[in-house]
Amino acid sequence: MSSAMRWLGPLRSSVPEIDDNGWQDLHRLSGTLGDLCVTASNSAQDPAAWSRWLLGVRRKLADRGHRAPAGRAGLVWQTLAQFTAGFHDLDLRDATGPGHGAMILTEGSAQASARWGARLAAGELVGIAATERHGGSRVREITTRATVHRDGTWRLTGEKCWVSRVMESAGFVVFFRDPDSRISAAVVNADQPRLERKVIEPCGLGGWTWGVLHLHEVPIDPATDLLGRPGDGLGVFRRHFARFRPLVTATALGTAAGVHTLVTEALTAKTRIGLLPQVRDNALVVLGRTHAEITAALLAALTTSRLAADAHPHADFAARVGKAAGVDTALRAVADLAPLIGAAGFQRAHPVAKARNDLTGLLYADGIHDSLYRSGGVTLLTEPAAHVAPARPGVTAAHRYDTAA
Ligand SMILES: Cc1cc2nc3c(=O)[nH]c(=O)nc-3n(C[C@H](O)[C@H](O)[C@H](O)COP(=O)(O)OP(=O)(O)OC[C@H]3O[C@@H](n4cnc5c(N)ncnc54)[C@H](O)[C@@H]3O)c2cc1C
Repeated sequence: MSSAMRWLGPLRSSVPEIDDNGWQDLHRLSGTLGDLCVTASNSAQDPAAWSRWLLGVRRKLADRGHRAPAGRAGLVWQTLAQFTAGFHDLDLRDATGPGHGAMILTEGSAQASARWGARLAAGELVGIAATERHGGSRVREITTRATVHRDGTWRLTGEKCWVSRVMESAGFVVFFRDPDSRISAAVVNADQPRLERKVIEPCGLGGWTWGVLHLHEVPIDPATDLLGRPGDGLGVFRRHFARFRPLVTATALGTAAGVHTLVTEALTAKTRIGLLPQVRDNALVVLGRTHAEITAALLAALTTSRLAADAHPHADFAARVGKAAGVDTALRAVADLAPLIGAAGFQRAHPVAKARNDLTGLLYADGIHDSLYRSGGVTLLTEPAAHVAPARPGVTAAHRYDTAA
């Protein structure tokens, strides 16, 4: 049994929607990821080679049919798959699944959904371009704008910043003001010549490129490229992140579990060869506590994914506060575990140092934490009724989550 599955095995009764085939597929994914990671070491220190390797892994896994099962189980399976990917490296967060491309599959026109469904299933990647210079926590103040061209199509102009996967993405979901000044969302091809991309160097989460997207009158056809209803961009954003944030959370927790396993194995080996006479109590306490905290946060993420799959009114709230709390849990666990491995773990290329830097990036990406907790507090005061509605097993949201890689 591979190590990620050692964490997941005892949780099997908590995911009754995953049948034997789904469970076997997870084992297969975990094994394949483990095998592929053995070949990664040569590219890990060169950012361009690392990014190519990551995209190659995504394509290979898509090619070999590593994808979520159809229907309600899909999102829960993907949550476990994200944990498995994160266990090896947080940079593998896009190893499988539609990622931000899920917005096209669930909210796009039939044409866009079919076209991008095929591209995502072949391992292509879609980025999200929402944040602008005034601040990503104020998404309602978006200034990127669409104007109507004489042939009836629209032209998008503006600047998006801090965009992940900026060079690797085949397309972007862009949020902008439509000609009626309402916030809308549309998919834009990355090879569009009026789209300019600039790379910025991050201090963590460096696997995928990160940077700025300039849109200079980029043409879109509102009949085929818009996601959701015109003017419902914030709805598209909210519905997507209710599904996406538990996936991010599970990936972060997988990374913390990977560090936990590494530290546990290092201590075991040191004791076996007599380098440590015995493991001290402080280390044992950290191992026990962080294991319980990671597991509890993963169970919460699985519940949130289930709520999101059912389009439950609690899902959006649970995804916001759950992402902040789950990533905080992962980062705290790694910070507490890191000293147990000693100075070796402080080397830049060491997986523990990398995990710590990468997890720091997730304090901002996909929702900055103070804003997420704060908006959770606002929801609790203003929408208390949404939180007493029981989850209704068997009520399935009409979505097409399961149609891509
Ligand atoms: C690694 C990484 C990857 C990212 N990937 C993407 C991506 O793919 N696509 C994308 O669109 N964006 C992306 N982002 C942007 C990310 O979503 C934003 O960083 C985040 O939403 C907020 O950061 P900001 O700098 O825009 O902060 P701001 O919105 O300016 O917030 C900064 C701080 O100020 C606080 N603040 C806001 N208003 C007030 C106020 N009135 N008074 C006091 N404090 C206030 C906020 O709560 C926060 O603590 C990424 C960011 C990072 C770091």
